[in-house]
Amino acid sequence: MNIIWTRSLVSLTLLGILSVVIGALLGVRVALCFALFMLVVQTLFTTFHTQRLWRLLDAPVYGEVPSAPGMWGEIYYRLHKLAKRWHAQVRQVEQQHSRFIQGIQASPNGVVMLDDHDQIEWCNAIAERHFGLDAKQDLRQHITHLVRQPDFVRYLASQHFEEVLLMRGMGPTRQKVLSVQVFPYGENRKLILTNDITELERTDSMRRDFVANVSHELKTPLTVLSGFLETMRELPLDESDRDRYLEMMEQQSSRMQNIVRDLLVLANLEGDAKPPSDELLDMRAVLRHLEEDAGNLSGGRHKIVFDVDESLTVAGNETEVFSALANLVTNAIRYTPDGGCIDVSWKRVRDRAVFCVRDSGLGIPAEHIPRLTERFYRVDRSRSRDTGGTGLGLAIVKHVLQRHLADLEVTSEEGRGSTFSVTFPAVRTASRKSIAV
Ligand code: ADP
Repeated sequence: MNIIWTRSLVSLTLLGILSVVIGALLGVRVALCFALFMLVVQTLFTTFHTQRLWRLLDAPVYGEVPSAPGMWGEIYYRLHKLAKRWHAQVRQVEQQHSRFIQGIQASPNGVVMLDDHDQIEWCNAIAERHFGLDAKQDLRQHITHLVRQPDFVRYLASQHFEEVLLMRGMGPTRQKVLSVQVFPYGENRKLILTNDITELERTDSMRRDFVANVSHELKTPLTVLSGFLETMRELPLDESDRDRYLEMMEQQSSRMQNIVRDLLVLANLEGDAKPPSDELLDMRAVLRHLEEDAGNLSGGRHKIVFDVDESLTVAGNETEVFSALANLVTNAIRYTPDGGCIDVSWKRVRDRAVFCVRDSGLGIPAEHIPRLTERFYRVDRSRSRDTGGTGLGLAIVKHVLQRHLADLEVTSEEGRGSTFSVTFPAVRTASRKSIAV
C-alpha cells in the first residue's frame, strides 16, 4: 500500500483509539469533541501546507526546502530533489547549447538559420560580416529584405540548391567574393553557408594570367622561329642570307631559353627550403664576381664604380643573393646608354647591410615603379627584349629578398637615372666574424 494511505490510515486509527479511550474515561461527548477538534486541526494543517505548496509551485525558489513535520516535510524534500535534477539538466543543455554556438562562431564559414518563412532565426558573426547583418536587430526579418542581390533572391526562390551561388561585391568593403549554398533541413527550414573565396579567386586569376603570359611570351619567338624555318625551306638562300637567318633564329631560341631558365629559377625559389640564417656569405667573393661580370657586360661603355665594405656580410644562400644583386647591376647596365655612370655600394647603415645600385640611365616613370617586380612587367617592351630581358628579373629579385627578409626600394627620375637599394635586416647582417642579432 502507498505510504500516504498507510500514514493517513494509521493517524485515523490512532485518533479513533484515543477517542474510544477518552469516551470510556470521560464520556462520549468529550470523546466526540476531542475527535472533532483533532479533525479541524488536521484540516487546518493540511490547508496551510497545500497553500504553501501552491505558492511554491507558482513561484519556485530554487535551493530553499521549506521545513514541515511528517508527510509534508517528505513532499517538500522530494519536490526539492526533483527541482535540483531539472536544474542540473537545464544547465547541461545550456552548456551544450553554448558550446555548440561557440563551435559555429569559431567556424570560418558564415552560418545563417532560416525558419519556414525564410526569416532569420540565428546567424554567426562571420555571416553578419558577409551579408552585413545584425544578429540581434535582424532576427525574424525575412532574409531577402536584408540581402537583396537579385541573384540571391532568385537562388533562394528557385528551391534548387545543388549548385553553389557566387556573390561578388560583398562584405563591408564590397570587395569580397562569397560562395553561398543553401541546405534545407527540418520542416521547411534552411541553413545558409557562406564561404569567403576572395583569395582563392585572386590566386586562380593570377594563375590564369601567369599561364597566359608565359604562353604569350613563348608564342612570339616560336612564331618568328617557325617563320624563319619555313622561309629557309621554301626560298633558295645564298650563304650570307642563310647565316643572317640562322643568327636571328639563334636569338629567338636563346630568348626562349632565358624565359624557361628564369621560370625554373622562380619555381625553385617557391619550392626550396628557407635560406639558412646562420651561414655567412663570402661577400668579398660575391662583390668581386659582380664587378667582373659588370665590366664584361658593359665592355667599357660605362663608368662603373664599386664602393664596398668587404668586412660586411649577410647570412643566407650565396647563389640566390648573388643572382638577385647581379640582376640589379645587369639592369643598370642594360638600361643606361653608353657613356653613363653606374655606382654600386655595399655599406652598413646603422645595424643593417645596404646594397645600392645607382645609374644615370633612362629612369622609370613613377606610375610603373610599384609594378616593376610583377612577373613579365616591363616599362619598355622593345628595350627589354633588345637587351635580352625576360621581364622576370625583378620578380626573382623580390622573391630572393623576401626569403632573406630584405627590402627593395626603388627611386627613379625619368631621363636621369634610377637607384635600386636592398636593405638586409639586422638579424641577417654580420661582420666577418659573427652574426649580429
Ligand atoms: P627585364 O628582363 O625586362 O629587364 P626586369 O624584371 O629585370 O625585366 O625589369 C622589369 C622592367 O623594369 C624592365 O623591363 C625595365 O623596363 C625596368 N627596369 C629595371 N631596371 C631598370 C633600370 N635600372 N633602369 C630603367 N628601367 C629599369
